[in-house]
Amino acid sequence: MRARHRLHERPHDLLGPRRGGGGAARRPVHLGRLDRPARLPLAPAALPGRRGRLPRTGRAGHGRTGAAGDRRRPPPVDQPGRRRDRHGLCRGDPRAGRLGRRRGGARDRGRRAGVRPHRARHGRPSAVRVSLALATVVALSCAPVAHVEPPPPKPVPKVLVIGVDGVRTDRVLTTRATYLRALMSEGLYATGHLDLAPGVKSLSGPAWSTILTGVNPEKHGVHDNTFNGRQYTRYPDFLTRLERLRPDLDTLAVTLWRTFFETGLLHQVDWHATLRPGVDYAEHLKDEMIIRRMTDLIARHQVDVVFLHLVNPDKVAHKHGPLGSEYVTALDTLDLGIGRLVDAVRRRPTYPNEKWSVIVVTDHGHRDEGGHGGLSPEELQIFLLAAGPGIRHERRHEAKLVDVAPTVFAQLGMRIPADFEGVPLGGEK
Ligand SMILES: [Zn+2]
Repeated sequence: MRARHRLHERPHDLLGPRRGGGGAARRPVHLGRLDRPARLPLAPAALPGRRGRLPRTGRAGHGRTGAAGDRRRPPPVDQPGRRRDRHGLCRGDPRAGRLGRRRGGARDRGRRAGVRPHRARHGRPSAVRVSLALATVVALSCAPVAHVEPPPPKPVPKVLVIGVDGVRTDRVLTTRATYLRALMSEGLYATGHLDLAPGVKSLSGPAWSTILTGVNPEKHGVHDNTFNGRQYTRYPDFLTRLERLRPDLDTLAVTLWRTFFETGLLHQVDWHATLRPGVDYAEHLKDEMIIRRMTDLIARHQVDVVFLHLVNPDKVAHKHGPLGSEYVTALDTLDLGIGRLVDAVRRRPTYPNEKWSVIVVTDHGHRDEGGHGGLSPEELQIFLLAAGPGIRHERRHEAKLVDVAPTVFAQLGMRIPADFEGVPLGGEK
């Protein structure tokens, strides 16, 4: 995968130094805070903004101790290659012939134990016999095994889902879209229109409910932005499902829309980020703050599944419509943000031993004058983009929001829940 997401520039550099810049330089703009779910208040000293390892439930103390120590040492994310040390005893080592002295581990003791019955039957063996026996053991253990490399550690599947609110599909390719095009040229790009049942509006509430729960509004019950009738207990979001099936996974979700958490649309997630309440952030900086914090988290910390929800294009389209230069700027900024997120994935120290999938999805389009909720073709426009192992390069015309959740499961190598209504993009899972 390393070569596949090649980005020809490092977008984050445009924002100034990211490494070694010291705390002050990195904090002129920051995401207000990273919260644990509301029921688990987080001690201020453990905020991940201090570059420490993400403290987790049941690993008390990591946040505090990690803050200073991790500055010098990279965070202890999954460490490939550790096992290799144990197997490399004989490989090309000129001292291998004197192995009897060097070894002494459990395996070797086991081998020596194998000589003992011989000793018991024949009395104390002579020094010659012992050294012959050892030499045989050494020869047997080194000769054939010496050239067998241990199997490489299995790459760890991980998924980044970038939700982009109100991105009108037909406008995307009228812009540069450098990083979106890079993902499109590699993965599956599907365009389409929302297929809404009667009474369901082309609004974020129902659409993100469909994306996150993997079922249509008839089941998750959300028809508009009141979220009335929601059935998230029965049809939880895919992050919650993943947490219940695989509590070891590190899940992370960030959205500016607190409603996602307040309604339970995002329920059981290891980490969620949101803006500090009561602070009046400049509208156009909100996504930027999210991306800055998320690129930092993705590049440095343990994460397996990440969901982000970026809103600036939608805000701009509501204000200026999706046809003007303001919207083009919003899409350019979004594209750059996506490039920075993908780049952050590639900067992970453990990236060579990981296989990442990236999914980009929008929830609805916009009328030419801005606004949505109705049934005009412009409002109903959507697209899905998925790149990752097993997903062939393909262009489709039937994008379905219910396909996102099963795609996440498939890319993680997990069985697709039976009540999901979509199919994994890329198939053959
Ligand atoms: Zn909107």
